[in-house]
Amino acid sequence: MEKYYITTAIDYVNAKPHIGHAYEKMAADVLARYHRLLGKDVFFVTGLDEHGSKIEKAAKQAGIEPQKFCDQMAEEFKKAWKALDISYDYFIRTTEKRHYKASQEIFARLQAKGDIYKSSYTGLYCEGCEDFIRERDLDENGNCPTHKTKPRSLSEENYFFKLSKYKSAIKEWLQSNKDILQPESRRKQVLNQLDDPELGDFSVTRSRTSLNWGVPVPGDDNQVIYVWLDALTNYITAVGFPDDKVMLEKYWPADLHLIGKDITKFHSIYWPAMLMSAELALPKHIYGHGFITVEGQKISKSLGNVIDPLALANEYGADAVRFFLFSCTSFDQDGDFSKEEMIRKVNADLANNLGNLLNRTLTLVDKNCDGLVPEAITNETLLDQAKATQIAVIEHMSNLDFSRTLESIISLIDKTNKYLNDERPWDSFKKGKTQEGQIVLYTVLEVLRQSAILIQPFVPNIANDIWNQLGFDKSLTELVSTKEMDKQLDPTYRIKPGQKTNRQGPVFMRIEEQVLSS
Ligand SMILES: [Zn+2]
Repeated sequence: MEKYYITTAIDYVNAKPHIGHAYEKMAADVLARYHRLLGKDVFFVTGLDEHGSKIEKAAKQAGIEPQKFCDQMAEEFKKAWKALDISYDYFIRTTEKRHYKASQEIFARLQAKGDIYKSSYTGLYCEGCEDFIRERDLDENGNCPTHKTKPRSLSEENYFFKLSKYKSAIKEWLQSNKDILQPESRRKQVLNQLDDPELGDFSVTRSRTSLNWGVPVPGDDNQVIYVWLDALTNYITAVGFPDDKVMLEKYWPADLHLIGKDITKFHSIYWPAMLMSAELALPKHIYGHGFITVEGQKISKSLGNVIDPLALANEYGADAVRFFLFSCTSFDQDGDFSKEEMIRKVNADLANNLGNLLNRTLTLVDKNCDGLVPEAITNETLLDQAKATQIAVIEHMSNLDFSRTLESIISLIDKTNKYLNDERPWDSFKKGKTQEGQIVLYTVLEVLRQSAILIQPFVPNIANDIWNQLGFDKSLTELVSTKEMDKQLDPTYRIKPGQKTNRQGPVFMRIEEQVLSS
């Protein structure tokens, strides 16, 4: 069976999750669910980066030990991901014992290869970036352009990794296939960075005096492994490195590292260089997505627009949030979250369009066909359009083009609503032209069956509800998890005549109605 190993960036636990963290996890979840639909053996990993001086500081402020602080934060993240239906297979935390072992093992391998050396270094260090920053990259106030804080001068003896040795190999690798790093704009940027002579060896440890909360360097008690080497290693820890060779063999290399555009450099230069040095395979794909702004503004604590994803899911439901974010933003670009826009969009597409189609059709089936799926005679024109939609969805999903995927599905639903309006099956039944009415209802039920499958990765609850109302025994989720989807996606498969449908009312309540009634 084909495997699909997908990872997200691991979030830094110095603060609670916000909508930006959630956006990436939801995207990875959409992809994980989609590949499960295709029958693949999916391993979806997300988790937390729990080391570093910012966490040490935050724990101190909270008056607790760093580990306890991380444990508490981990619960916050897990709670939010549960509310948003993030179906991860493994939640990795870099404070796990086995991750210490993995980080130390990879350090030892780089060292054994002769790619690690000790040297002293003086430079400007930004605590927000957890990285040294060059003078010329500072803004006009002498601050880090990302964090708007002044970097401090830091001088210490560290272990360095010989990135310079791998730069040309990395460049060749990235040029060998356009698909390795996407979108294309990010790939160009990284290729330019590789040409920069100043991009050289980088420090992979910190002295204990500047950072205590981290994985100890094997054989040197005065140093801890620096955040990036530690954090990036999570991707192999999660699949059993170094001890579980069976699992590692099965899932590594990752099929996709899904990350934010700001950390593309670390994932497509530093990480592959370390993997080359450790003689491990390189990831198949890396994708640096755009960011989410809120009501047109960058998410920031000082602007007070940090949206709590848990509260959002509790208020509007995971499906509404997921549907809106992926239909209204282009995944490779920055996108905006606006409550008003979300309500408008989900009311139009999920309540009025999709929900109404199901409800009207099942009402007609109840009234005219005793609630049973009628004889299997179909309108092939509409079903050809459904087939074309499936082909388009596969194409768009392979490009991580979520907005066009949803556009294709919603456009099919539009056409089906129009078909129902134009054909007026209620008139046919009234006039005694039973078969004409049955053709229309059967065709629409079949389109609804296919649409439920296609839209399931985005709105799993609504899809399950449609599935249930169409009268299937097993839930859609159950079919996916027992890998019985094959025939459901076969173009010749059709909903069975005589199946008892199960009308339950709207699959998605218009949002202002919810607000008014609560
Ligand atoms: Zn910074």
